[in-house]
Amino acid sequence: MPPRHAYTEVAIRGHDARAARRIDAPRPLACFVRRCAVSEDRDALKQRIKEANDIVDVVGAYINLRRAGPTFKGLCPFHDDHRPSFDVDPRRQRYRCWSCGKHGDVFSFVQEREKVDFREALELLARRAGISLEKIQKNTQGPSRAGMLDVMKWAAERFQQCLLDHADAETARKYLGERKLAGETVRKFGLGYAPDSWEWLVQQAANSEKSADLLETVGLIAKRNEGRG
Ligand code: ZN
Repeated sequence: MPPRHAYTEVAIRGHDARAARRIDAPRPLACFVRRCAVSEDRDALKQRIKEANDIVDVVGAYINLRRAGPTFKGLCPFHDDHRPSFDVDPRRQRYRCWSCGKHGDVFSFVQEREKVDFREALELLARRAGISLEKIQKNTQGPSRAGMLDVMKWAAERFQQCLLDHADAETARKYLGERKLAGETVRKFGLGYAPDSWEWLVQQAANSEKSADLLETVGLIAKRNEGRG
């Protein structure tokens, strides 16, 4: 008997829906993106950190900026710039390079420049402004958006690999054609296969040391309802 887990996959497998579902596993991923919406608190915090980090000061710490009318100009840090193509607009708190097209706000600048994800950029800028990280943790209870996207990407990859390798997915592979074609199609369209077992993803998560709580947060699995399943 397979080990019992506290969680089970969320999808309901009706007999009619089974064939469709087997090659359409990533679809649930789209359905719960809605539920991962960033909370109000987090938006407010992001706003506060943004307001505390003037983009001219932040960018000015990396490159020399010279005032040019209402904006500031400098050599673009994202391409080999020989004349100042990089525009920083203090009113809109945004930057744009008229040569290579890079543009964004203070967060995307730090992300690009420091090669970090959004959450790390948020933390770096919070620290720079003296906003304590403790407050960040308090204000952003629950997993980070980056963490949720990461686990969703991981699950989609598991379903894809399953479609390519798992013995149970033989029919689906036949449906998609030759194996090579299946591989290309799977990658191109993000197809996946969910084995006909309620606990496959839960087991995969345990093997990969992925957090069941995180999988539950993004809606891929649900706590088992005792007495059922
Ligand atoms: Zn540029």
